[in-house]
Amino acid sequence: MKKKIRIFSLMLMAILAVSSVVGCSKKDDDNAGAGNSSTNNSSTSGDNGNGDGPDKNVVTPDGTYVDHVEPEPDVVGTIHERSIGSTEYKLFNGGATEYKIVLANNPTMYDGKAAAEINMVASEATGVQFLSLKDDSVAYSDTAKYISIGDTGYLESAGITIDYDAVGPQGYEIITKGQSIFIAGGDKGVFYGALDLLDILFNYEYFTAAYYTVDKNVKDVVLPDLDIKEKPDFLNRISPYGETFMNSYGRDRMRMIHDSEIFVQGAKTHSAFDILPPATWKEAYPEWYSNDGQQLCLTAHSKVEEYEAMLDNDGAIPEKLEAMIQAAVEKCKDLLTADPDHDILSISQMDVNVWCGCDSCTYLIERYGTPAATQMIFINNVAERMEPWIEENFPGREVFFDMLAYHKSEKAPAKEVDGKWVAIDEHVKLRPNVQVFMALIGADYISGINAPTNIAMKNTFLSWAACSGNFAVWTYDCYFGNYLVPYDSWGAMSDMMKFLYKINAHTLFIQGNYNLRTSTNFDSLKNYVYAKLQWNVNLDMQELIHNYFESMYRDMSDTMETVYWNMRTELFSHSFKGRGGSIWENALQEKYYSKQYFVDQLALLESAIDEAEKYKTTDPTYYAWVVDDILGETIGPRYGLLELYKGTFSEYERAAFIEAFSNDVTRLTVDRVSEGGSMADYLANL
Ligand SMILES: [Zn+2]
Repeated sequence: MKKKIRIFSLMLMAILAVSSVVGCSKKDDDNAGAGNSSTNNSSTSGDNGNGDGPDKNVVTPDGTYVDHVEPEPDVVGTIHERSIGSTEYKLFNGGATEYKIVLANNPTMYDGKAAAEINMVASEATGVQFLSLKDDSVAYSDTAKYISIGDTGYLESAGITIDYDAVGPQGYEIITKGQSIFIAGGDKGVFYGALDLLDILFNYEYFTAAYYTVDKNVKDVVLPDLDIKEKPDFLNRISPYGETFMNSYGRDRMRMIHDSEIFVQGAKTHSAFDILPPATWKEAYPEWYSNDGQQLCLTAHSKVEEYEAMLDNDGAIPEKLEAMIQAAVEKCKDLLTADPDHDILSISQMDVNVWCGCDSCTYLIERYGTPAATQMIFINNVAERMEPWIEENFPGREVFFDMLAYHKSEKAPAKEVDGKWVAIDEHVKLRPNVQVFMALIGADYISGINAPTNIAMKNTFLSWAACSGNFAVWTYDCYFGNYLVPYDSWGAMSDMMKFLYKINAHTLFIQGNYNLRTSTNFDSLKNYVYAKLQWNVNLDMQELIHNYFESMYRDMSDTMETVYWNMRTELFSHSFKGRGGSIWENALQEKYYSKQYFVDQLALLESAIDEAEKYKTTDPTYYAWVVDDILGETIGPRYGLLELYKGTFSEYERAAFIEAFSNDVTRLTVDRVSEGGSMADYLANL
């Protein structure tokens, strides 16, 4: 047994000495022998682990299982129709193929990307590539062997009709007809269709930005009989975590996007002063700005009587406000003309938690019970005037004007009537081309949307849904002040996705540690689960998690899954010790984490690295990757030890521990300790 250079450093000599007293590894063996670790799922509860709710598998500190709060029912009406059979034909036969890729004469960028991906992966799996041709004149026959990509003449000659409206810009259909396969769909959908086909043919799937599976040395592949129609449940799926947020290659393949891909250039979130720059307008129109100058005054300091008349008696828009709306409209025209590729135009407050308090704003705030009303009435007016212009200049273009429910504008102008939320009046019902970007930064994303303690958050969403038919939702999924401490949203993820689909959210930014290059505490798994659930909210989360461990960790999967469930159980226990659900909590405290917890987790991770040894010769590339990946998972527990228990180390142990930690985080690019704090600075101050 090779006991060589131990990764977590000499520190382990000390801590393992402690853990050997309680026989840590023995304890795990015992539990494994019972078919389960104490922290794990299933058999003792009679539940098979693929249970009903995400928290089915979490035990309380006293060892009893708790059911998840009322689980959110599956959604209906999504499009994930998948018929996958086989034919009598061969796509690859003895390592060769007669198939060719056919593209249109003028393929789209994504058609080209799809063809390139198919050839790259086919080549890796079989050693063979398909010949490609661009030819709209190729005619369909029952015996012709083509993979048709995009809106080709071949597709047309086969008489196949694609329901482009149903699948939208990112959905697709994959159809087998005769001996040919057809992939077609919306713009980007064609590329996603290619990824789907490659998964079916070669088990090609990305689990992290760096790790994917693909079959190797494939000689024979039966032509699958496919009838697939897919549309993502959320149109815009912004990547939560840094590994894909900062890596477009992995992000594309996990079917997520960057937030810069949705907003019209020059009108991102907090755009008020981009739409109406003070430098341009303030001298001539000081009334457009709040008295403190930090926000717009969205009523333009109009007279209260004028406002009352406008709202109650269908009166004219106050003159001062009219000029302001016109200026915003002209700016929107310029922005949409300059950037025809993006369709969400934000008209939202600056990122300071203040609002205009002039008389007319105050009148509106009192009338509707929220500052949001001033923004809604303003943006409705802008959006209404933009509609004919968009129709004339960009027919078919679907633009959303975006406002924020954030800080002062978090509350909706709605009231509860007989258990249902309704807008206060018609003036604060947003037009169909206006969306609300919900960003509830103080909310509890741990307890779940249906938890009794989260009734206020749920009502905030439901009350906004009474005022708006379209949502973008920005949620938060890490401690922004402490990136290396796990945020326990695991039990809430699946329900939240289903709920957000039901209120008609089309854009999600679940913001985790987006600027941390390499994460720890299984945030990569979270990233994967979110990628999957954002595409199809009804997927079984436990199955996704299990599949992740099996695919990523091969023979180490049991050990790694145990480490994961240990973490889940540990975090769950913190809620019984007073830790709240906000991202602002100080969640790393001795009263929550024992030293033993970190020590046990590190011992398990070390045994996973021992188990990986067998791949050193059989699959050295995988070995190198997986050891680093497991090392990445040690960073969270090591950081916890360092922060809470370094005082219990001898001086020598502490120095060795810090040196090893420093080397590993540097090599593995765990480059931040918080949103604004670099690892380099942290290390320098240790
Ligand atoms: Zn005002």
